[in-house]
Amino acid sequence: MAKLDTLLAQAGSRWDEKTGAVSMPVYYSSTFRHPGLGQSTGYDYSRTANPTRSVLEQTLALAEGGTPARAFAFSSGLAAIDAIARLFKPGDRIVATEDLYGGTYRLFEKIFRLYGIEFVYVNTADTAAVQQTFTAEVAAVFVEVPSNPLLNVADIRTIADLAARKGALTIVDNTFLTFCRQRPLELGADIVVYSATKYLGGHDDVVAGIAITAKPDLAEKIGFMQNAAGAILGPQDSWLLLRGLKTLPLRLARQEENARALARWLARHPRVTNVFYPGLPEHPGHELLKRQASGFGAMVSFEVDDPEMIKGILAGVQVFMFAESLGGVESLITFPAVQTHADIAPDVRERLGINNRLLRLSVGIEDIDDLCRDLEEVLT
Ligand SMILES: *Cc1c(COP(=O)(O)O)cnc(C)c1O
Repeated sequence: MAKLDTLLAQAGSRWDEKTGAVSMPVYYSSTFRHPGLGQSTGYDYSRTANPTRSVLEQTLALAEGGTPARAFAFSSGLAAIDAIARLFKPGDRIVATEDLYGGTYRLFEKIFRLYGIEFVYVNTADTAAVQQTFTAEVAAVFVEVPSNPLLNVADIRTIADLAARKGALTIVDNTFLTFCRQRPLELGADIVVYSATKYLGGHDDVVAGIAITAKPDLAEKIGFMQNAAGAILGPQDSWLLLRGLKTLPLRLARQEENARALARWLARHPRVTNVFYPGLPEHPGHELLKRQASGFGAMVSFEVDDPEMIKGILAGVQVFMFAESLGGVESLITFPAVQTHADIAPDVRERLGINNRLLRLSVGIEDIDDLCRDLEEVLT
């Protein structure tokens, strides 16, 4: 099999035998002609399978897990997580990272809890604490590694081992590092899930989600759910994602380089009291992530010394953009307590450190001097 960069660069480029199109065609067809009774081209109806989506799914399956893996593309990251959560039944317990992406927390608490699934939130960077939540009902562990926005790092291998012994699944939201940096299936996880809206797409132009597993029984169930509930990714968005994937390794390398420089710069700034970036040696997850991943990603959170500064910073930035989301080539800044984590109760937020002095950066591919200068001008 070709190496990852080659696989991604040429995704879809050899699909169209008839014309030799180098760019994967976008198949705007909801239905497909049957050659005869009981015969199929492999495509019958686009909810079930569409060629543009299939090529995307095959590329991602190979990128994440090699030949046995299968990937499923959904209309958003939350749609992918929703399809996975539907694998569970009333009475099941799902243990999840406590500083979870706000939308995932909302989906679990406001929807799946109504259907009788029990959710327990724990600091998944503390493996012993995770183990303490493992009752007889535990059916899955859902971890975000690193977590959002504080970038805590869970030990995927140890957690997956402990979960497997209980007969529970390990599900990893790998949105922040991607398969270019962290490979949860190789560490023992059962399912990897992505908001492909972020690094995989990488250009802030598409909302998409991906679920990947190398277990045939789980693939069967997720595939069934994708077709039965129908939250599929459309052909145009599948194509945008395929195009984004081609440059993922390049983008990520540059974003990481910028993030490392910016984290170091912030750590020296007099108005900054705390920097959260796992690439810094003083970050509590640094050593673990060094072993478990091949990079530290490009998300950086930091605290300023006075909450009164926040409004001015968000209004004053000229290069960073005040916007939610992350992972794109454009650098973004957000205020997690109000923007991305508003659905988490205020007392819980405070305990987790998502306070009114915390800002989160998604570092893009711009010139690092422009990024530093931009923050210098607002951090006064
Ligand atoms: C954005 C995000 C999601 C949700 O994905 P959408 O594509 O917005 O539905 C889930 N997990 C993480 C870590 C995210 O950043």
